[in-house]
Amino acid sequence: MRVITTIQEMVAERSSCASSQKVGFVPTMGYLHEGHLSLVREARKENEILIASIFVNPTQFGPHEDLASYPRDLPRDLQLLETFGVDTVFVPTPTEIYPPGFVTYVDPIGPLATEVEGATRPKHFRGVATIVLKLFQIILPHQAYFGQKDAQQAAVISRMVADLNLPINLRILSTIREADGLAMSSRNVYLNPEERAAATVLFRALQAGRTVVKTMAETVLAEPRARLDYAEVRDPDSFIQLEVSHAPALLLIAAKVGPARLIDNFLLRADGCWDIGIPVNDQ
Ligand code: AMP
Repeated sequence: MRVITTIQEMVAERSSCASSQKVGFVPTMGYLHEGHLSLVREARKENEILIASIFVNPTQFGPHEDLASYPRDLPRDLQLLETFGVDTVFVPTPTEIYPPGFVTYVDPIGPLATEVEGATRPKHFRGVATIVLKLFQIILPHQAYFGQKDAQQAAVISRMVADLNLPINLRILSTIREADGLAMSSRNVYLNPEERAAATVLFRALQAGRTVVKTMAETVLAEPRARLDYAEVRDPDSFIQLEVSHAPALLLIAAKVGPARLIDNFLLRADGCWDIGIPVNDQ
């Protein structure tokens, strides 16, 4: 497995691939868990060349968010990616990606980017769209892999790919969960044992919300260690608010548990089936 830190080397590496070879790409912020690895596993099956990236993207963090404390363990991540058969890992520095003089952003607008997560995190999706487009331009993947766990991110990127006519097939894969329902997240490491137990409230709230929407919020409000940010039903593509969960719909929840801000969702697909994610041991 090659580990590349500069754009110049990454572009050279990419251009050495034969044009007949299908290139898959899994972007991450590292501190890998089974959610990330499910993307890597699927991408490995579906492509001849597999490229992953590890980059904690500063432009998607707000000024009072956890950029400085975001968990990092590059040696462990590289070992895992090697084990999973990744060909190349791109690990740029922030100044490699955002050199002095950088001024050009991709700035999605409307409810999709400014409501729900976008309301709490005002420039978050501008940062996400910008880094993903830059990585796409550098890596030129045929297919790119994202998690349904970050449903609004997946919708923003799908919209960007359509709006900017990017020749990339997006694969959005189900949320991987701990056995007790907690969605796997690098940020779960912030939780102490009591908070870790309380964090299942997001999953329990989504379960309750499948039958009666308003019980989502009530379930979180009943958990003393959790502070509800939002509990909403939205259209999975436009993120326009829905009154009831008629298919397709997304049940979305965000709450702070101790120092960790956690998000989760269930997707009611157009065919009427729920995608509630997959327990890590059932993959
Ligand atoms: P991150 O490192 O948090 O930026 O995540 C990198 C990719 O992994 C994103 O596409 C996430 O949506 C995806 N991901 C994160 N957590 C999970 C999970 N529990 N299940 C599936 N995908 C996930």
